[in-house]
Amino acid sequence: MSSAHAHAIAQLTEVIELLRPQYQNVPGFERVTTKLKRPDRVLEGSVTIEMDDGSEQDFQVFRSQHDNARGPYKGGIRFHQDVTKDEVMALSTWMTWKCAVTGIPYGGGKGGVVVDPKKLSATELESLSRAYVRFLGKAIGPWIDVPAPDVNTTSQIMAWMVDEYEQMQHEQGGAQANPLASFTGKPLLLGGSEGREEATGLGGVIVLNELFIELKKAGTFASKSEVSIAVQGFGNVGYWFSHHAAQQGYKVVAISDSRGGVYSAQGLDIPALLVHKQKHGSLETFKCDKHLSNAELLELDVSLLVPSALENVITVKNAGKVRAKYILELANGPVTPDADAVLEKNAVTVIPDVLANAGGVTTSYFEWVQNLHGYYWSKDEVLGKLETLLQTAFQEMWQQKKSLKVSARMATYATAVKRVIDAHLLRGR
Ligand code: NAD
Repeated sequence: MSSAHAHAIAQLTEVIELLRPQYQNVPGFERVTTKLKRPDRVLEGSVTIEMDDGSEQDFQVFRSQHDNARGPYKGGIRFHQDVTKDEVMALSTWMTWKCAVTGIPYGGGKGGVVVDPKKLSATELESLSRAYVRFLGKAIGPWIDVPAPDVNTTSQIMAWMVDEYEQMQHEQGGAQANPLASFTGKPLLLGGSEGREEATGLGGVIVLNELFIELKKAGTFASKSEVSIAVQGFGNVGYWFSHHAAQQGYKVVAISDSRGGVYSAQGLDIPALLVHKQKHGSLETFKCDKHLSNAELLELDVSLLVPSALENVITVKNAGKVRAKYILELANGPVTPDADAVLEKNAVTVIPDVLANAGGVTTSYFEWVQNLHGYYWSKDEVLGKLETLLQTAFQEMWQQKKSLKVSARMATYATAVKRVIDAHLLRGR
């Protein structure tokens, strides 16, 4: 497959064929499904900022708005030198499915700026963030399109962006809704939500708990301590997933970061590992049964593999060597399409990223709701609502999996795409 967007469309086409029998003689099905293969609109252009040395520099910018039948477009903004129009189009399409599968009332969007942010000073980064918001202008807003952080964009960048958006609203004669609701992933002091930091990792554990309930019913496991887990990545997502999984009784036996991993058959001491990583910057000298490479970690004889670092780490080259029978995709796109086919043939159940890592966007939705109300919830309230929502999402996917007799990935997409098609049909678009 030549491009990310072509891959997203190939997936969609497969799901449409799976759903087609349910829509026989439904007028509008062809029209709606054809429409979903293109974003509603893609904004593209360039912005110019003044650099610290007084020179001017142009940056290429994009925002893809895929579909808004279920609510405002929602999705992150990526600052990276490899950003392309094709990539943001694909990512915005996947955001539509991610929001639909969790049931949160958003469509899909994604933005990007072609820049290596490490090469900019803080002042230049702020100017670029503000210029990007000016470029988007009236195309964003609490009821139109609500961006968030993504690769290399932080809560500080969201603070600059929300401030610029608010200034634009004042210039245009006042705000229609609380301007803080125009971006999520903001600092707590500026309307961010309690619980956001751990939401993606914890969300992964909530989804795992639902899978465990099903596997226990089927007699695969009797207790959580029988489930051995290898986690690739010890950043935000990998750490919080490991922390909550170990606390809830699962056996996290292996964890890696970019420099390699650690293994302990009895289960790793996660708080000690975090202290070690903070003190030494890596896991390399941590006392454990053995140290391993990232490649070895992916091929360990464990029950569950949790890629939580990078995309495309399980490829057609190593998929056949994966010994885990379950994979929970906490990173975005860790399994390539070719590898997916190998895993399916080997009866490996993959809980896909759009469901497994949806704890992040779900908590972003809670942030937006709190901003619109001007009323803020405690961390327990946020995480309690997250649990209910993800439990329901998993159960709906699992029902679909059983009734359609397809993989968890296809069942997830089928659940999501069906919701979006039905929203269009109800609107009569
Ligand atoms: P992060 O930067 O906090 O952590 C990334 C981790 O990956 C680090 O531990 C790093 O050492 C490790 N890593 C880097 N290169 C590696 C390599 N070659 N092999 C093994 N490990 C390597 O990032 P994060 O926020 O934890 O995000 C991780 C993944 O989860 C990304 O794919 C991201 O898109 C996805 N994701 C994150 C969120 C979120 O809320 N943070 C939400 C949804 C999806």
